[in-house]
Amino acid sequence: MKYIDEFRDADLARKIGDAIADEADPERRYHLMEFCGGHTHAISRYGVADLLPPAVRMIHGPGCPVCVLPIGRVDLAIRLALDRGVILATYADCLRVPASENLSLLKAKARGGDVRMVYSPADALKMAQSEPEREVVFFAIGFETTTPPTALVIRQAQALGLKNFSVINNHVLTPAAIAHILGAPEVPALERPALDGFVGPAHVSTIIGSRPYEAAAAIYRKPVVIAGFEPLDVMQAILMLVRQINEGRAEVENEFSRAVTRDGNRKAQALVAEVFEMRQTFEWRGLGDVPHSALQIRPAYAEFDAERRFDLTTKPVADNKACECGDILRGVKHPRDCKVFGTVCTPENPIGSCMVSSEGACAAHYSYGRFREIPITVTA
Ligand code: SF4
Repeated sequence: MKYIDEFRDADLARKIGDAIADEADPERRYHLMEFCGGHTHAISRYGVADLLPPAVRMIHGPGCPVCVLPIGRVDLAIRLALDRGVILATYADCLRVPASENLSLLKAKARGGDVRMVYSPADALKMAQSEPEREVVFFAIGFETTTPPTALVIRQAQALGLKNFSVINNHVLTPAAIAHILGAPEVPALERPALDGFVGPAHVSTIIGSRPYEAAAAIYRKPVVIAGFEPLDVMQAILMLVRQINEGRAEVENEFSRAVTRDGNRKAQALVAEVFEMRQTFEWRGLGDVPHSALQIRPAYAEFDAERRFDLTTKPVADNKACECGDILRGVKHPRDCKVFGTVCTPENPIGSCMVSSEGACAAHYSYGRFREIPITVTA
């Protein structure tokens, strides 16, 4: 298939692997974080780590929307479905995220909650139009990629004068998370992974462009190479990162130039800016409260904000004690470090969020199991 097979060519992958081995200094270590779950999935599925020399170590990042969703936010949706009688619409992956009291949205559905899976926010909007006597709440999650469609339906709902549609908005921002991983003063050094560079997001960057990463790269002196989600994209990005590190550069480079520009999709950015504004702070699973890392609905669209409409307050809830998702999302632990990985916790019975979505590090490792067992190094 054109534009897919070319990026999965095994011979080319081996050649890039050889180039990385040639250029990587065997006396040093290159700790590279793939921010996105899409990259984690590609690395595991295609055995990318097997083609890398021992000097290059890949570390999973927090770029999986379902994984970083804190329990307290899922609880909001469950309570609305069970106690307030709304139709709760959301993406399939959200349905199985473990929440408080051994519940999930799927289990809430089994208890009689009207929880429905949708493929897009537009499906939820259609439900509100076709069932005007019911309240329909869309549980929106995701990074910058999925934010514009949510903004669009909120604007459409206002234009249509809908009175029974609202959104629990959980959209989060990638550059803030990268900066937080690199430099949040409240994160102890021992909880920070040793990092030399980032494989930057693919789909997110089609929206925001490459420019927003420039500040973090310059301030923290860490190179970022934006890469597509195919295995050759990832291999090429790793080669570009190794070169930058060897040359002492810390720049933002764009391997995914077939889809990403420096300025991104300005139309989508304008739409998002019209409907959303910055939240002061937002809790991420694993990262804790991260300032200016998420969006909330602007007052002009307040009637579509489910948090205001139903007077909802998010309560912080601790993760299951057995679950190491938090440390895995910060890049300081590996799925294999979790005692219940693959035994009590499996994709069929996820104990933590990292085992739910195919983009989660635990689910990717469980499905493909091809990562080499290399201990993660943390900063001293
Ligand atoms: S294996 Fe399950 S319980 Fe362990 S860290 Fe991953 S998601 Fe959490």
